[in-house]
Amino acid sequence: MVVILKSNYDKEQLDRLTEWLADMNVEPHFTYGANQTIMGLVGDTSKIDIDMLHALDIVEDVKRIAEPFKKANRKFHPEDTVIEIAPGVKIGGGNLMVMAGPCSIESEEQLCGIAEAVKKSGANVLRGGAFKPRTSPYAFQGMREDGMKLLIKAKKKVGIPVVTEIMDYQHLPLFEDVDIIQVGARNMQNFELLKHLGRQDKPILLKRGLSNTLEELLMSAEYIMSEGNEKVILCERGIRTFETATRNTLDISAVPMLHSMTHLPVVIDPSHATGKSMAVPSMSLAGVVAGADGLIIEVHNNPAKALCDGAQSLTPEQFDDLSKRISEVKKFAYRK
Ligand code: PEP
Ligand code: MN
Repeated sequence: MVVILKSNYDKEQLDRLTEWLADMNVEPHFTYGANQTIMGLVGDTSKIDIDMLHALDIVEDVKRIAEPFKKANRKFHPEDTVIEIAPGVKIGGGNLMVMAGPCSIESEEQLCGIAEAVKKSGANVLRGGAFKPRTSPYAFQGMREDGMKLLIKAKKKVGIPVVTEIMDYQHLPLFEDVDIIQVGARNMQNFELLKHLGRQDKPILLKRGLSNTLEELLMSAEYIMSEGNEKVILCERGIRTFETATRNTLDISAVPMLHSMTHLPVVIDPSHATGKSMAVPSMSLAGVVAGADGLIIEVHNNPAKALCDGAQSLTPEQFDDLSKRISEVKKFAYRK
């Protein structure tokens, strides 16, 4: 339920209202917009008499929220959420963030070389997996703890924030110097992991599961937000369909749909969506024009020799060319 307060509401009356709500175990969440103050009610609101709320002097309007996601709901928070990743690096509300780097961290030389190159081309964040969720237990599983050390070394040496995937909440101490913690598609509904990430305050890049609806993605965001961490970035990375020509099918319409459903920033991952480097530049530009708040793109210095996802990785030169095109199409980005 959402209560819109009158612009000149009386503070004492508001205190009385919040006490009355607290007695019913309903917690108010305030959003102070430019023109109105919105009070989102979290908890069992079924016993609240809407007519009674409407009749209060300080209340302009009351709306029931039919959707099961509350804190992530655009009705709760009409303005876009803007998340500051590092000083001067923001995502959301018109700030486009480009994350780029290898699928997996392979060596210091590989990671730092790619980090320097993508930063020079305009990437704001370095990606690199240390813990890799692989379909086969016999495939390279990532450099794990050693990879985390290299990632932090690259962050400090090159001066760029970093994003990397977590697979187990017991690894959280290893993520202390990480700027964005990624939850991979396979863990989108690992609810214990989501709850633990909600109890710490680093931004979370939450990827859509292979066969999950947008509502399910938002319910997973809700798991993180309901524990207190509201810094959630959503990522469309392709879904399973009958099509086999691409690794997955990029659901580009997820961008306008999510923007209408939620205030959280939305990122496109054209690399995992297509699985083919030739398709990555055009899908990246499509994402930007559709209004995405960010991109996450795999870049490798030698894709043919990559230990993971070489076929979908751009070379640093291809990424540089794409970055220039991104700057050109940014002005066409569609936002309602
Ligand atoms: C990744 O980003 O390397 C990754 C494994 O992505 P996803 O979870 O989307 O498959
Ligand atoms: Mn990958």
